[in-house]
Amino acid sequence: MTAEALRQAVADHLLYSIARPAAVLTPEHYYRALALAVRDRMQRRWMATTQDWLDLSNKVTCYLSAEFLMGPQLGNNLLNLQIEDQAREALAMLGQDLDEIIAVEPEPGLGNGGLGRLAACYLDSMATLERPSIGYGIRYEFGIFKQEIQEGWQVEKTDNWLVRGNPWEIDKPDASYLVNWGGHTETYEDVTGKFRVRWIPQRVLQGVSYDTPVQGYGVNTCNTLTLWSARAVESFALEAFNTGDFYKAVDEEVISETVSKVLYPNDEPEAGKRLRLLQQYFFVTCSLQDILRIHTDRANLPLSALPQKWAIQLNDTHPSIAVAELMRLLIDDHQMSWDEAWSITVATFGYTNHTLLPEALETWPLSIFGEALPRHLELIYEINNRFLDEVRARFPGDEERISRMSLIGEDGGKSVRMAHLATVGSHAVNGVAALHSELLKASVLKDFYELWPEKFGNVTNGVTPRRFLALSNPGLRQLLDETVGDGWLTDLTRLRGLESYADDASFRERWREVKRANKSRLAEFVHSSTGIELDPTWMFDVQVKRIHEYKRQHLMVLHIISLYNKLKNSPGLSIPPRAFIFGGKAAPGYFMAKRIIKMINAVGETVNSDPDVNRCMKVVFLPNFNVKSAHLVYPAANLSEQISTAGKEASGTGNMKFMINGALTIGTLDGANVEIREEAGPENFFLFGLTEDQVERVKSDGYRPAAFVENDPELAEVLQLIAEGRFTHGDTEILRPVLDSLLHHDPFLALADYRAYVDCQAKVSAAWEDGDRWSHMSILNTARSGKFSSDRAIAEYCDDIWKVWPMEVDL
Ligand SMILES: *Cc1c(COP(=O)(O)O)cnc(C)c1O
Repeated sequence: MTAEALRQAVADHLLYSIARPAAVLTPEHYYRALALAVRDRMQRRWMATTQDWLDLSNKVTCYLSAEFLMGPQLGNNLLNLQIEDQAREALAMLGQDLDEIIAVEPEPGLGNGGLGRLAACYLDSMATLERPSIGYGIRYEFGIFKQEIQEGWQVEKTDNWLVRGNPWEIDKPDASYLVNWGGHTETYEDVTGKFRVRWIPQRVLQGVSYDTPVQGYGVNTCNTLTLWSARAVESFALEAFNTGDFYKAVDEEVISETVSKVLYPNDEPEAGKRLRLLQQYFFVTCSLQDILRIHTDRANLPLSALPQKWAIQLNDTHPSIAVAELMRLLIDDHQMSWDEAWSITVATFGYTNHTLLPEALETWPLSIFGEALPRHLELIYEINNRFLDEVRARFPGDEERISRMSLIGEDGGKSVRMAHLATVGSHAVNGVAALHSELLKASVLKDFYELWPEKFGNVTNGVTPRRFLALSNPGLRQLLDETVGDGWLTDLTRLRGLESYADDASFRERWREVKRANKSRLAEFVHSSTGIELDPTWMFDVQVKRIHEYKRQHLMVLHIISLYNKLKNSPGLSIPPRAFIFGGKAAPGYFMAKRIIKMINAVGETVNSDPDVNRCMKVVFLPNFNVKSAHLVYPAANLSEQISTAGKEASGTGNMKFMINGALTIGTLDGANVEIREEAGPENFFLFGLTEDQVERVKSDGYRPAAFVENDPELAEVLQLIAEGRFTHGDTEILRPVLDSLLHHDPFLALADYRAYVDCQAKVSAAWEDGDRWSHMSILNTARSGKFSSDRAIAEYCDDIWKVWPMEVDL
């Protein structure tokens, strides 16, 4: 772990692993050599951790997630191993700069946004809290697309993140499992005369595991992320090959490997549905087979002890086929009785719900499902029969309730309701913020709550303070260490100690200095990626997240246009200067979200090039927002925009990253904003907008957007500017769909919240003009952000749901 030992290890890897002469070495070669040297340093911890939880009677969490948005690994691993200084020195000895080498790492974009990033934060916390755990997911060959902006429009490029290899993973070709698909089922009598079912698949492929170490901060625990990659089954391909059909063999290989080829974007309509179901089943069956193999072969335990050894968490419904798959494995492969298999299944699974949006609740058309997974459909019917009997016994004669709760939806064509399957098959169901969990019980899962109130709970999301503070905000880290000590890295509530400094003028000066430096860093990045120059003394007003109508990026644009309009109408007017910064991807098939990106860029182009307004406002759309750029964005923000329609954002985690880094929030009472405001104190939060029940009332009364326009001449002018093509060189068509939606069919009520939002923004500006007041509020936000550490969230999961306890790893 010394600098000299690291230098030697990097030099060795340059020679033995990279194998290039010194004269041609590039920063990328140094990155790979250092990454391998760092991985070597985790190896003994990794093996010791795995061995310990195998040998001892510890319970292990398996976190099943279709997405893990891990972000770059090098900096984080150096931090968690506590060898940043040594690595810097080692590279300096080799004539290299650590920051430049870290910047070379490509983003492993195996997630869409919040849900995938949450899974990654949770792995970090489980390792840091010394809880034995495995993350299970898919090793997509192409992650989330790369976003480019051309003439203001989003253009998608494939993300070939593996093209230069991935030094963090270790492939385990010997750890592979078969995955069946399609075909039909048959019944037969086994040797004991028992009636059994056999699945005769149409196709078989195999999953190969790639393991990545997950090093905890300052501890020996090094957990595992196992990602599955799809391969053709050799014997299958060979058969065709031997019969001379070479091309059929190759075809088979191509089809099989398609399964883990690409991550699907959120919010995509129908297209590619069958493959998505196959992806879900693929990673779920490989993971469950792996768990059962470890359980019986390695740990030598009886299957009845499964719930004592494993807690399996379903991150949203994507892995919920696991409920039927575990039943299949126990009953068909291990000859267990139904009742025993079912009680094991329910005791093992927990389910985290992530959305209330009805269109985002997963269902599979029965035809697709039955064709792909015929045995699972039979099992689901049986689960459903027994479950509905239970409902009938509790609520006799309530047939409407029965059809609402059934695992099989009858509305439109028949379909399998995955959220119902996950709820019935789990002993614990949780939402991801207090408000969200309450709404779950009152709306989408109301009937289930009435049946099993004891199943339902809440675990408010959190984010890791290692990556999102220590690693990405080194200036603030230094200041915090000096002020409250470095205990906050593993106990974020220690930041409370900052409160007493909020009134200290010299401390506030240092606080501002840190933020200023972060803003310069972001401004440089913005300049290099967009050509736009930002002044780091301006307020940085930021909304970064996936582009979606419910998140209401367009509401922020309406405010920008209102300021533009004021400045144009009164040339002498002065407003506190602001940079409005957006970032985020739109699903390639989400028409309106792509128009909203165009709108941001169109308004940006107009504002940025007009000397009447660009002296006090600029608009930036930062392309390809991802974890790497997130490291620069959150620490540089003064104002965090969390302006979703109340009741629509389950939690949000971006809101927490901003708060930890000292941004003030302007937001609605939605998701975790509610708790952020509670913690920060209402006087340190800019609240506006309808509450969730007001939103529902407006909707049931019949929302009439025109009424808000009629009563608000300023809003009318703003919409008029868009309609007449002021931002689109006179073109009145390009942004018409956005206007039409706002004015005629907007389920997210943007215009209903416009006045409250714009008035609240005026209060923000007033607060900003009083620099001391702003700093005071900013310090208090960071000081009171302790609750939003993923360490707190993971401790709650472990205590309340998983019953997984700390295990100190000895080397
Ligand atoms: C945190 C994060 C998100 C989630 O942001 P929300 O504001 O909670 O939607 C999305 N993408 C990236 C890259 C993130 O780091």
